[in-house]
Amino acid sequence: MKADIAYVQEKFREFNVKMFDGKLPELPISVTNAKSYLGVCLYRTRFKWNGKPEYYDFKLRISRRIDLSQDELDDTIIHEMIHYWIGLFSPADMPGHSPLFRKMMADINQRFGRNIRVSHRLSAEQLEQAIDNRPKKHVVARVVLKDGRTGIKVIPCMERHIRRYRRGMMASGIVSSIEFYQTTDPFFNRFPSSSAFKVYFVDLAEISAHLPDKSEG
Ligand SMILES: [Zn+2]
Repeated sequence: MKADIAYVQEKFREFNVKMFDGKLPELPISVTNAKSYLGVCLYRTRFKWNGKPEYYDFKLRISRRIDLSQDELDDTIIHEMIHYWIGLFSPADMPGHSPLFRKMMADINQRFGRNIRVSHRLSAEQLEQAIDNRPKKHVVARVVLKDGRTGIKVIPCMERHIRRYRRGMMASGIVSSIEFYQTTDPFFNRFPSSSAFKVYFVDLAEISAHLPDKSEG
């Protein structure tokens, strides 16, 4: 299921009463289309007179990009609520997944039969959904190394980037040939697009399946 605001709001209230003694004040909740997280608890930091940090202005964001099971979605909400609780009531145990975070997580898992984890491991199918699938214009370099391996590099569609990449890679002494292809295949959206002197090794059959036959020179 995909999150919507009403659902997240309702679950926040339910879990607040059940798991956090109703101590968490309501906070702004939004549902986003982010691919970099399933959920995130945002906050601002200020420093008290004694130099200790204090956290405030909390916001809860849940991504609806990935289709999760209801349990996974609920666990994501609770995970972020633990961050919120610690930020409010035990700022010394911020940030991140501190020992207190892990303890609270383990307690809730045990008492309520949940399966909250420190990081969310996504299935291959879920990862696939997280990738932007809109067609974009890419230049893909197909790089054959002198040791026989073949890899690819996605480069911004600009002459100077292409030239820079070709020059740098050929100068490295380990490259035997580079061919450039133009494509809008969303398969390539998952690779970083830059002229950094890097090569990504992907299954050869997969490369051929996604690259057009004709080289663009
Ligand atoms: Zn976390």
